[in-house]
Amino acid sequence: MRKTIVSLKAMVIDRKVTLSWYKSTPLFSQVSTNEFDLFRIYRKEEAFAFGEDYEEFFLNHDGADAQLIFEGSLTAINNRKYLFHDDSVETGRTYSYFIQTQTSCRIGPVPVRVRDPEVWWSYEYMMSRINNLCEQSGGIACHSICGRTVQGKGIPCLEIGDGAKTLGLVGLIHGGESGPELIIPAISRLLAESPQLFRQVRIAAIPAVNIDAREEMVEGTPWYLRTNFQHVDINRNFPVHWETIEYGYGLDSSDISSVTYRGAQPASAPETQAVMSVFNDNPPDAVFSFHWLAGICGLPALASKYAGGDTGYTGKCENLIMKFGKGLYPDLDFTAEWLSYTCSAGSLSAWLYDRFGIPAFDMEGYVNPDSHERECCRADQTDRKLITEYQERHTNALREVMTELANTSQES
Ligand SMILES: [Zn+2]
Repeated sequence: MRKTIVSLKAMVIDRKVTLSWYKSTPLFSQVSTNEFDLFRIYRKEEAFAFGEDYEEFFLNHDGADAQLIFEGSLTAINNRKYLFHDDSVETGRTYSYFIQTQTSCRIGPVPVRVRDPEVWWSYEYMMSRINNLCEQSGGIACHSICGRTVQGKGIPCLEIGDGAKTLGLVGLIHGGESGPELIIPAISRLLAESPQLFRQVRIAAIPAVNIDAREEMVEGTPWYLRTNFQHVDINRNFPVHWETIEYGYGLDSSDISSVTYRGAQPASAPETQAVMSVFNDNPPDAVFSFHWLAGICGLPALASKYAGGDTGYTGKCENLIMKFGKGLYPDLDFTAEWLSYTCSAGSLSAWLYDRFGIPAFDMEGYVNPDSHERECCRADQTDRKLITEYQERHTNALREVMTELANTSQES
């Protein structure tokens, strides 16, 4: 059966859902149709489990058990496009929508998840926080655009202080993970509470790399997104052992249909090139790349798998992770679980080891004293309380790391 409407989309704006759709081409061309005199819109709340369910969850839904939430006429924009606003959704819930015209079946589903914009920052909000931070820094902090995403969004780079040592911070290499919500508040607090540290240690931060995938999630894509808009896993695209095919997660990094696809060429993704340009221009002394899930990361730290036997290097890594962990989880003692040498071919941390020989880590989150917290972010249930707690933990962790880098600067 030919459908009467096309290009159905749901978008979350300020915790409300806007649906949009168009008349199909054949019906748009018909002047005297009454097909669009009446619309029925149906909605169903879905038992979607983030991290377990993905796009396939919504396939084959016919909407038979969805509830009617609107029946009436709507006015077409340009005689073709329709909009419908649903203000009665709840944050943290996932919904399917179906739309019916006069003679059609229920057309859908259009899936959407409503996320808290204070937990999942939009690009616009992140840029406003970066601007505020720089304006209030008294000239210590500035930002620039170090590259553009596939979609053309400017990737911001923050530079703070003029110390002899440089600490690099990178967020959202993977869209559904962590970065701006931890990095930007932590830098703001350190500027206010420990400004002297920035005279010895400069921070170069790229809080959000895969902005395109993150924006999709902010706008309501229910499932976890990892790759950029060329299907490339940016953490397999760096020019380090790139030819080596990785089989992590049961996937093949040379396969474009795999979410760990390494890309067509080393450093082919514009997001990869943006990160490389920042560190090539000003070689860092240590880099932390923020991963794990739904805005949160902690420990373990993963360093290059090619560094395992390099004892001079592993000693430096262990020392920094001890400091980081002391700030993050002050009640815990360092254990071997906190650090492993497992970062893949093509990963940022493996590239930084290869290029500069510096301690570089992907920060994950499954070594965590409180399994409730761990399960919260795994299930996309991170709330304002948890994100606030981790902003404070990361402030303390970065303070420890900066202090350590400052001390080693004095010794050398
Ligand atoms: Zn990741």
